[in-house]
Amino acid sequence: MTEFVAHFDVDAFYASVAVRDDPSLRGKPVAIAGRSRRAVVLTASYEARPFGVRSAMPLYKARMACPELVVVAPDMAKYKAVSREIFAVFAARGQAVEGLSMDEAFVDAGHRDFGAACALAADVRRDVLDATGLTVSAGIASGKMIAKIASDACKPNGLLAIPPGDEARFLAPLPVGRLWGIGPKTQRRLTSFGIQTIGDLVALDESQLREFFGAWGAQIRELACGRDARRVEPERETESISTEETFEYDVRDERELVAVLRAQSLELAEKLERENAGARTVGIKIKRGDFSILGRQTHLIEPTRAARAIFRAAVACLRRAQLDGAPVRLLGTRVASLVEGEPLQIGLFSQR
Ligand SMILES: [Mg+2]
Repeated sequence: MTEFVAHFDVDAFYASVAVRDDPSLRGKPVAIAGRSRRAVVLTASYEARPFGVRSAMPLYKARMACPELVVVAPDMAKYKAVSREIFAVFAARGQAVEGLSMDEAFVDAGHRDFGAACALAADVRRDVLDATGLTVSAGIASGKMIAKIASDACKPNGLLAIPPGDEARFLAPLPVGRLWGIGPKTQRRLTSFGIQTIGDLVALDESQLREFFGAWGAQIRELACGRDARRVEPERETESISTEETFEYDVRDERELVAVLRAQSLELAEKLERENAGARTVGIKIKRGDFSILGRQTHLIEPTRAARAIFRAAVACLRRAQLDGAPVRLLGTRVASLVEGEPLQIGLFSQR
């Protein structure tokens, strides 16, 4: 018996909803995007992806890459309604649900044997399809990180389950950047030393790990070996603190946005201190000039209330949003997955 975590992620969510509701779109390259001149692709159907059409790509570039692209305007109210149906399935089948976005969640699959965990994931996939007509991909593993990597690896309409004991073998050939906590900068540095895969990382000795990661070395190694003790943490609204700013004029300059994130991080750090709490999740919210809303969030290895750590995570989220100079109307920062008390530098993997 193992405690399993499942990760579910609907395939090309917005685009799949559009195709579901307009069968004439079936089999065609579809992009969901706003109508403004500077609109970006919010989601691309799998038929559009071979052309190189991707989320966050400016729409005019997507049209150049794929002239027959069918562009559909987003319908947020509809996505929210569908999202509620999907999360109702997660809640009915799983023991705890940690939502990551409208169409993506970790689900605690509980203590069971491997076959039963796979069956649970298959049941969720079938129930979501029955309820909404959408396909959801699933990853099952003994930890969150591997469950998420697995569901990404089997998209679309897939189920990939990693048997307990196989975690390290599954991770070894993957690029180091797939590990949580290793951003593009660290990945470049590792690659320049010939460390390409997660397996290469595991092969490093302790002093090399310390050199690359300082005090985190031992934990990064645990994660690289597939030992990931983080449990599914259901989030309640009261467990997050946020702040946001609407600009008088749309902002395009990244330095200006970064300065706003810095101020917001300081504010959130103060609030966390007052609440005597630490946060495990940092997220940002962006409202673009075309009023489309974009969120990015990141999970920290350790809970924190340090302004610097919140700021760094928020900036990483901003970079991942790939705004490329698109106008921003509103920018917000949010800390969530709060834990009580002053965060201690206790090894994550020792606190099971
Ligand atoms: Mg998705």
